Amino acid sequence: MSDDIAHHYRQIISALGEDPDREGLRDTPQRAAKAMQFLNAGYSQSLEGIVNGAVFESQTDEMVLVKDIELYSMCEHHLLPFIGKCHIAYLPNGKVLGLSKFARIVDMFARRMQIQENLTREIAEAVQEVTQAKGVAVVIEARHLCMMMRGVEKQNSSMTSSVMLGAFRSNQATRQEFLMLIN
Ligand SMILES: [Zn+2]
Repeated sequence: MSDDIAHHYRQIISALGEDPDREGLRDTPQRAAKAMQFLNAGYSQSLEGIVNGAVFESQTDEMVLVKDIELYSMCEHHLLPFIGKCHIAYLPNGKVLGLSKFARIVDMFARRMQIQENLTREIAEAVQEVTQAKGVAVVIEARHLCMMMRGVEKQNSSMTSSVMLGAFRSNQATRQEFLMLIN
């Protein structure tokens, strides 16, 4: 697999007018292949494997918020990175999820070819599925290198996407509390 990807990178480097045999580029196809596989490792992970039983009984019914989870993903339109932060909140319904698992869930979906809107939804639905919460809210703020580095070069623009499930969708006070806490 890695060799196959490296072979294609070598062709891309040639097609772009470079010499893939010059010293600085000699190992680039292999390195790039490894990097690309790492950045797409989410395809070989599963929600069940990641959560690995870290769901605990709890009587708390107050909002749990995990803020500022670093996010690195790659846009499926240009295969260029988009980077930012993800905020996740949920209203427990008898169960809570281990804190480190939120970042792992974010990484599993971010390490795939994505658009920000779908990534936001996939994270929200995964947290809902695992916790059976009364509500889940996810907000992602990200900057897209495909927008910053090429074409329009809008270097300071960022995109915000959100998905509200359950009580965060139906109850305005709950939604407001969440939005206030992340701003
Ligand atoms: Zn793009």
